[in-house]
Amino acid sequence: MRYHTIEAVLRFDGSKSIILQPAQLIISKSFNPLGEFHFQMKPFWSIFMAEQPFYSSGLYFSCTRCSACCRYDPGYVFLSKKDVEILAAELKMDYSEFIEVYCRWVPQGGGPDRLSLKEKSNYDCVFWKDGCSVYKGRPLQCRNFPFWYSILASFETWKIAAESCPGIGKGNHHNMDYIESCLAQGRAESIITRKNPIARGR
Ligand code: SF4
Ligand code: SF4
Repeated sequence: MRYHTIEAVLRFDGSKSIILQPAQLIISKSFNPLGEFHFQMKPFWSIFMAEQPFYSSGLYFSCTRCSACCRYDPGYVFLSKKDVEILAAELKMDYSEFIEVYCRWVPQGGGPDRLSLKEKSNYDCVFWKDGCSVYKGRPLQCRNFPFWYSILASFETWKIAAESCPGIGKGNHHNMDYIESCLAQGRAESIITRKNPIARGR
């Protein structure tokens, strides 16, 4: 005879996970504000794995194109080698010319400087012109938002990010595999750095 104990785990993000023991599936169900819901079934061995991240049932996000993250306030768009290659090719420039014209080095508290896009005097991104003028070739940091380590560190950091982005928590559902592929891409494409010039002079 099977053991049918059902244990309900309520999460603070509004999703609900139901664990059937010792049935061989974990079924999790979540709703978005539009009333859509999603089921995820996971193999039984995931019961024995480390605790699942808060986004294990996926997260909702659709950009509303409000442009808040591209303009108005100071910010950085850090770049990988691949980002620069793609953007330089799109703008028909060579690699070092692109860095000269569109990039700046950002000091990191004595550590290596990191390469970022420039911004205009009003703090708009250098590529903001009634929308992202390089949308197809926009950097990984922009493409992967909001699935960044800093935002996915906890449900608290996800909620804080939602305060300044109206697309977070709404719209399309993104499953854990997709979210983790964004994180993996970020790991694979490291930011371009250079030794801090002050440290270099020592
Ligand atoms: S703040 Fe959010 S919704 Fe607005 S443009 Fe940026 S990603 Fe899109
Ligand atoms: S590159 Fe495009 S998407 Fe990224 S911050 Fe600049 S304007 Fe926004």
